[in-house]
Amino acid sequence: MNRFIRRGFLGALAGLAAAAPFLVLSAVGVPEFAVAIVAASMYGVCVPPARRAYADGIMAAASLGIPNWGISSVILLPVLSGNHMAWDAVGMQEHFASLVGWILFGALLGGMLQIASEIAEVHYGPEAAPASPLPSKLTRIVILGGGFGGMRAAEHLEEELGNSALISLVSDTNALLFTPMLAEVAGSSLEPSHISVPLRSSLRRTHFVRGRVTDVDFDKRVIVLDGAGEKGRELKYDHVIFALGAVSNYLGLKNVERLAFNFKTLLDAIRIRNHVIEMFERADRETDPSARRQLLTFVIAGGGFAGVELAGALNDFAHGIFADYRNLNIEELCVTLVHSRDRILPELSDTLAAYALEKMKQRGVTFRLGARLVDAQPGLVTLSDGLISAETLVWTAGTAPNPVIRTLALPTTPRGAITVDSTLAVPDRLTVWALGDCAAVIDSETKKPCPPTAQFAIREAATVAKNICASLKGRPATDFHFRSLGALCVVGHQNACVELTVPFAHTRSLRFSGLFAWLIWRGIYVSKLPGLERKIRVLTAWTLELFFPRDISQTIELGAKDTHGSYAAVSRNI
Ligand SMILES: Cc1cc2nc3c(=O)[nH]c(=O)nc-3n(C[C@H](O)[C@H](O)[C@H](O)COP(=O)(O)OP(=O)(O)OC[C@H]3O[C@@H](n4cnc5c(N)ncnc54)[C@H](O)[C@@H]3O)c2cc1C
Repeated sequence: MNRFIRRGFLGALAGLAAAAPFLVLSAVGVPEFAVAIVAASMYGVCVPPARRAYADGIMAAASLGIPNWGISSVILLPVLSGNHMAWDAVGMQEHFASLVGWILFGALLGGMLQIASEIAEVHYGPEAAPASPLPSKLTRIVILGGGFGGMRAAEHLEEELGNSALISLVSDTNALLFTPMLAEVAGSSLEPSHISVPLRSSLRRTHFVRGRVTDVDFDKRVIVLDGAGEKGRELKYDHVIFALGAVSNYLGLKNVERLAFNFKTLLDAIRIRNHVIEMFERADRETDPSARRQLLTFVIAGGGFAGVELAGALNDFAHGIFADYRNLNIEELCVTLVHSRDRILPELSDTLAAYALEKMKQRGVTFRLGARLVDAQPGLVTLSDGLISAETLVWTAGTAPNPVIRTLALPTTPRGAITVDSTLAVPDRLTVWALGDCAAVIDSETKKPCPPTAQFAIREAATVAKNICASLKGRPATDFHFRSLGALCVVGHQNACVELTVPFAHTRSLRFSGLFAWLIWRGIYVSKLPGLERKIRVLTAWTLELFFPRDISQTIELGAKDTHGSYAAVSRNI
């Protein structure tokens, strides 16, 4: 039997058993009962069976009770019965009993599904594995980088080549970072683990290698790695894919590089969150008003998506925690966004960018447009048109391809990105491929450079995987072409801007703003977040956020050195 039909059937069966006691006790009506069976069946389809994972199964399905409750009891059933939706906190509290019911149902479902899967395995054998060609000669494909592009390339290669290739993925971190939600970690809406997806367990047939690429010998086809206590470890390849991403580019501003926070990695977001809390702690005991204002001024350089989303998230976070600091006055808070052009969000249309600016101003964010950051000193940020007294500066104003690329014998652009042809192969190096933020990809139809976004990186990964398969099977390679599906940006306080390209009418777009756009943003990104468990955790955190204040506990020791000893203070006071 097809494995998805089998899982759906087992899910429905487990749902029936878990929901029956609620129906018998008249705790739910027939509509809720039916919704529960459908949800259970869908859950069954999405969750691959794991042996004796009772605790995991029960916990994962119990947490699914929260989004289920939100979708069915708060939205779907009231709408179907003609009642108004209860969006506010007071309205939602009326549904509290059904929330408990959904969580109990989830826990029962998780247990029942585990029992049903194990009985099915004993009686009918394990699930049918996807068909894969028999190995003849095992081709060694090595993917460098475990970000959006690298992970997607591995998934595609697994699908296309099955067991006929040895796929390895090398990364210096053991998890994919879901960057679109990074601002939510800095703003304390989500936990770091919510947006990092472990590579080892997410990729089924790919061999994960934790290590840092330091060199590649293209003649001998050998990659040199450092990491896990080893130096100079070698890895052979037949095909290699470069997906090493980008780093912050400080445009030669040495003091800014030394003093500003980066906003690229999970550690950056954790540091920023802890530093903001530290600034509040220090401001709370500071008696000098000008020093207090300096502590409570947060400067963000860069008015693109990352800078705007971070400014919105920090502003919300700061407003949310003010109540905990009795000695502070909200008037002393200042979140400032510095941008060198005269309008923010150049990737969005004028109207949406103007909307974002207006909404953020209403929430208290100040803007320094048409101003460049030229220097930073402790406690002082220097702009091309003035000074700002601030203890916090975050840099989101520029990126550059991973610097390790310049050290390798690869053709690069003046920016340092790997030059690739229209099939994403590196010219004159037949088995070397590159994609994502570290490559200079030109769209084969529009002839325009592709932007450094996850949206493009994952499509480029699919093309590279297809072309490697084509080259192994002696078929012609495909040129890369992709049109952006649109752009989304959260501006804070449950507002967002969304611009979606109309299919088959590429010059036209659908534009949304406000709460509806914010819900679209959340819906799209939670659906893109890899893995059911992560989706559930994020939905649960967002639901809980409606009822409880932001957490102000500091999770890392400020001023401590990290394992390399090179990052001096975790709190980078300027
Ligand atoms: C705050 C923020 C928000 C963003 N929001 C969006 C968004 O909403 N939508 C969107 O489409 N894009 C967004 N982006 C851009 C998106 O994250 C990147 O375009 C995308 O991650 C590029 O994918 P990649 O695979 O090329 O590189 P990355 O995802 O950056 O992956 C690079 C990988 O290489 C690893 N690596 C680096 N150096 C080495 C080495 N020497 N050895 C081994 N491994 C190494 C890294 O650890 C990482 O795993 C955002 C970026 C940021 C910073």
